[in-house]
Amino acid sequence: MIIAVDGPAASGKGTIARALAKHFGLPHLDTGLLYRAVGVAVVRSGGDPDNAGDALVGCDFPVGLFDDPELRSEQAGELASRVSIHPEVRTALVERQRDFATQEGGAVLDGRDIGTVIAPDADAKLFVTASTEKRAQRRHQDELKSDPDADYNVTLAEIRDRDKRDSERVTAPLRQADDADLLDTTDLTISAAVQRAIELVEAQKGAR
Ligand code: C5P
Repeated sequence: MIIAVDGPAASGKGTIARALAKHFGLPHLDTGLLYRAVGVAVVRSGGDPDNAGDALVGCDFPVGLFDDPELRSEQAGELASRVSIHPEVRTALVERQRDFATQEGGAVLDGRDIGTVIAPDADAKLFVTASTEKRAQRRHQDELKSDPDADYNVTLAEIRDRDKRDSERVTAPLRQADDADLLDTTDLTISAAVQRAIELVEAQKGAR
């Protein structure tokens, strides 16, 4: 069974995808990490993330980069969003994601274009969202753990920027697949959101 989980930054899609993977006993791929690795690799090699050629070179990032805590930073998220605009970069990363999705037994992938581009035939698709303010609050709470001076308004502006760039790009923009169920986590606890996600997946896999 292939489960596709898409949605904007800080919507809860990563947490939900991990919980679904655990519940259904499937491997999980956070595809955002691939784009984050490309973005960080480009900058570390002195390249320009807005240049398609430089960004493409970054796709050969070392696998060890996945363990680098910097990949989880908002800066890496922003770099990821910039390199992911280039169609060349998206093409270079497609095969790795499709191979993961089509492995025997299935998989859970989360990202922006899993249900629309990477695994359009997935057995279940969720589009996880939450209000912009709620997503910024969640991200800000996280940031406060390592930086007591973190500014909510800066986080809110970053989330808005990222949403805009991800939704307005020409290739594989962030959008809900026609056959994906919408899961709005704005007013849900994590456990309620996970429970709802499991119910939606159960219903979809029975129906397809
Ligand atoms: O999900 P995450 O915040 O880690 O993603 C970082 C950025 O990578 C996103 O803002 C988006 O621009 C890009 N991305 C993408 N396609 C995916 C996953 C992430 O374009 N499947």
